[in-house]
Amino acid sequence: MEQSKVKHIGMLVETDILIIGSGFSGLGMAVAMKREGKHDFLVLERAEDVGGTWRDNHYPGAACDIQSHLYSYSFRPNPRWSRVYASQPEIHAYLRDTAEAEGVLSHLRFGETVLKAEWLVERGGWRVATTNGEYFAPVLVSAAGHLSDPSYPDIPGLDKFKGKVFHSARWDHSYDYSGKRVGVLGTGASAIQIVPELAKSAGRLTVFQRSAPYVIPRRDHVYSEAEKGLFERFPDVAQELRDELFWGNESRFPQRRQVPAFIEQIKSTALNHLRNQVLDDSLREKLTPQYAIGCKRILISNDYYPTLQKENVALETSGIASMDENGVILKNGERVDLDLLVVATGFEAADLPIAEVIHGTNGLSLAEKWKSGGQAFACTSVAGFPNFFFMLGPNTGLGAGSMVFMIETQINYIREGTNYVFENEVTVDPNAAAEREYVEGIYRRSAGTVWVEGGCSSWYLHPSNGKLTTLWPDFMTQFRKENGSFSPRGYEISPRNVAAMPAQMEEA
Ligand code: NAP
Repeated sequence: MEQSKVKHIGMLVETDILIIGSGFSGLGMAVAMKREGKHDFLVLERAEDVGGTWRDNHYPGAACDIQSHLYSYSFRPNPRWSRVYASQPEIHAYLRDTAEAEGVLSHLRFGETVLKAEWLVERGGWRVATTNGEYFAPVLVSAAGHLSDPSYPDIPGLDKFKGKVFHSARWDHSYDYSGKRVGVLGTGASAIQIVPELAKSAGRLTVFQRSAPYVIPRRDHVYSEAEKGLFERFPDVAQELRDELFWGNESRFPQRRQVPAFIEQIKSTALNHLRNQVLDDSLREKLTPQYAIGCKRILISNDYYPTLQKENVALETSGIASMDENGVILKNGERVDLDLLVVATGFEAADLPIAEVIHGTNGLSLAEKWKSGGQAFACTSVAGFPNFFFMLGPNTGLGAGSMVFMIETQINYIREGTNYVFENEVTVDPNAAAEREYVEGIYRRSAGTVWVEGGCSSWYLHPSNGKLTTLWPDFMTQFRKENGSFSPRGYEISPRNVAAMPAQMEEA
């Protein structure tokens, strides 16, 4: 297996392409490079393992709510998925196996948190300072993910609480919650997987709900040995299943465009599920969402509603006023004393922390450029940030579908883009007008979607202006059609400055 080729110049490590992050997107990008016979790239990973969100979200009950035969690389099918919706350890193992089997581990640099990435105009490339050193490459790819940095609630007095607190994405398995008074803050996709697991052994569990989610049945099953054998011997059968799952997901998009027949169907599925599982009128009322279906993620679970009706579980909807050393004080003046508070409050997805450390021409940071929300040409390139590609950035998220499809689309775009850069010895920087026009088109398409009009607040909209900056407002197939192939049209192309390294660097 060919190893990573890097030059060491003093403390500076030089290569062709630097990728930040080794989750589904960064790892997939690395595999694409490797399979194309490129070896001059490095992956900077802040943790000590690959896997991104599937490494970090190891809370009890963590699983994917997109079917695994679809939520996996198309170029690396896994006939042996144990069930329809695989759990976190199995997905993480799949990513680790991929990294090893595809020969990309030697390209990984673990424990490297990026502190600053800056475009060096005189060298036509990116200098990246990390916690351990400095790197340089003509091309930089951010694959840091959009669900990687936990968002913590701003509750007055939270810092005074003497009990244990952790975020769902930073689970502390050394803490034994059995028999304890546990609170879960949030009722999103993470919380509804955690709650049924905690309820099995917590002494008392309180679920703090701010808004009720829509929940539909989870049509899961374990694959038999015969099924797995079939997928193994006949890859076409597994591919047919993948295709069927893809079109099943794709056909849900008209719900988000609020096409009445589609809305009625999914809404009755969700409300029937609630009616079937919750017989108590007052609990059912609390669990009935007050916004249009699809405005927030539609959740899938068969055991969330039954869990809320267990004797040791309570759903609290009065709202949290503050906290003190013993627990939560509700807005109605009552208190809920706790030993553990799990904050399942989501991620910094609208304002990505990685944007703060990436500086383009004129030293402007991505965060400054994106203060009114992320925007990118072809959802991947940013004007003023030459030879830079952003994976899972602006308008790449999905309300319904497999993010791996979006990732693979961007992988192809970036692969072709980097080939263009190196084959022509150029720098590519999207034209500001082209970027604006592209983003305006996205905003036009997002008008009328349930994410914008559905009457909820979600991480899909930017808090500064309510624009849809995180989700893709169209079919997945349309994303691939528009953004799956690099074209120099819309970019400013200039000869790449390959001038000698500045003196201070050579001396370093
Ligand atoms: P989330 O969907 O953002 O949900 C956060 C929850 O915390 C919401 O219920 C929110 O209430 C509540 N919350 C936030 N701040 C609060 C505050 N200050 N006080 C009270 N409540 C507060 O986060 P998540 O559940 O971690 O999921 C994030 C994303 O991760 C999902 O949308 C999904 O894309 C992904 N995910 C996927 C899976 C999977 O199976 N594939 C599993 C987990 C997560 P409001 O609703 O009222 O805002």
